[in-house]
Amino acid sequence: MAGARKPGRNFLFVPGPTNVPDRILRAMHIAMEDHRSSDFPKLTLPLFENLKKIFKTREGQVVVYPSSGTGAWEAALTNTCSPGDKLLAARFGQFSSLWIELARRHGLEIIVQEEEWGTGVHPDKIEEALREDKNHEIKGVMVVHNETATGVTSDVAAVRRAMDAADHPALLYVDGVSSIASIDFRFDEWRVDLAITGSQKGLMLPAGLGIVCASQKALAAMNAKCRRAYFEFGDHMKANATGYFPYTPALSLLHGLRESLAMLEEEGLENVFARHRHLADGTRAAVSAWGLKLCAKEPNWHSDTVSAIMVPHGFNGAEVIDRAYRCYNLALGAGLSQMAGKLFRIGHLGDLNELMLLGAISGAEMAMNDIGIEVEPGSGVAAAQARFRGAQMREQQRIAAE
Ligand code: PLP
Repeated sequence: MAGARKPGRNFLFVPGPTNVPDRILRAMHIAMEDHRSSDFPKLTLPLFENLKKIFKTREGQVVVYPSSGTGAWEAALTNTCSPGDKLLAARFGQFSSLWIELARRHGLEIIVQEEEWGTGVHPDKIEEALREDKNHEIKGVMVVHNETATGVTSDVAAVRRAMDAADHPALLYVDGVSSIASIDFRFDEWRVDLAITGSQKGLMLPAGLGIVCASQKALAAMNAKCRRAYFEFGDHMKANATGYFPYTPALSLLHGLRESLAMLEEEGLENVFARHRHLADGTRAAVSAWGLKLCAKEPNWHSDTVSAIMVPHGFNGAEVIDRAYRCYNLALGAGLSQMAGKLFRIGHLGDLNELMLLGAISGAEMAMNDIGIEVEPGSGVAAAQARFRGAQMREQQRIAAE
């Protein structure tokens, strides 16, 4: 049992990086090429166009950096803000905290709305703050669409409505790192100004691409004074126009991205969202069969890409994770910052199906039992199975009725 080699595949259920499908692995397995060749734009120009589809934008301009999502955070802010600018942000988890911290390091003044972890953005409070800002000193509103640390999804459309109701011209910045390409996201319809994502979650790629989508209104703010060099939008846009980059792009990842976008298109984005909802639903059924609670306080906060599961008092979530990893070759997500030890997370996003997820639910159940958490063996697996079978049967009935 305890040999050095762990046979079979590692069950990767952290909420990113996610499983990289074999098709994408093969697509990235390429010889290096000249990124200044006359052929290179054949790869890149369609990529820039197709990327817009996952943001659901026609008007937005997409910029791809060889960075992680954190680089995309920095790019969005530094290209559109000047030191001393005021931005409004809600803080309710590790990633909303880190983004605020990053903004402050660039000299931005962040007005923070503290929310209980397990909840998300409260659009009514955003509206109130914006209404009070009669001189329009607030330049932007920062929203983490899906707080990966707590498994909470916020309503970005409602934030946009709140901004409109206050008749406020602030830019809308949205972190979609663990939502874009997994949960419904509508750049144009919600009039998002800067949307941010990374390659290692819904796009099913390794980490290494930071992607920003900027609205025309955001681009008009590009004379902002925050220091930037590597992340300068202008350099990218100029080079991208003819299919090139201002510096060496992450070639293998771009080839992988082409395959990833093709896979998302083949499945259909709406089907991808529905699959994530379905898998999340099975996971939530397992959690309630265990008699445990999610960190997300109410169903309206439930995330379809990650479930953060509270362990009972007197137990340490880190022990569940360690046990699952060492004994069952299952990687679960850790509790971060003020949630450290209090929960473990099951990421259910990316290239995933029901049986893979049942494996993770089973492993989590065993690991919990092993450290003394009394959940009924098999109860979570059975509850998720029932959800999945019920959905299959409804689908068959629907097809039969057509
Ligand atoms: N934002 C969210 C919501 C995230 O989940 C993460 C990482 O998990 C980040 C930002 C930071 O992205 P990265 O780790 O790719 O820099």
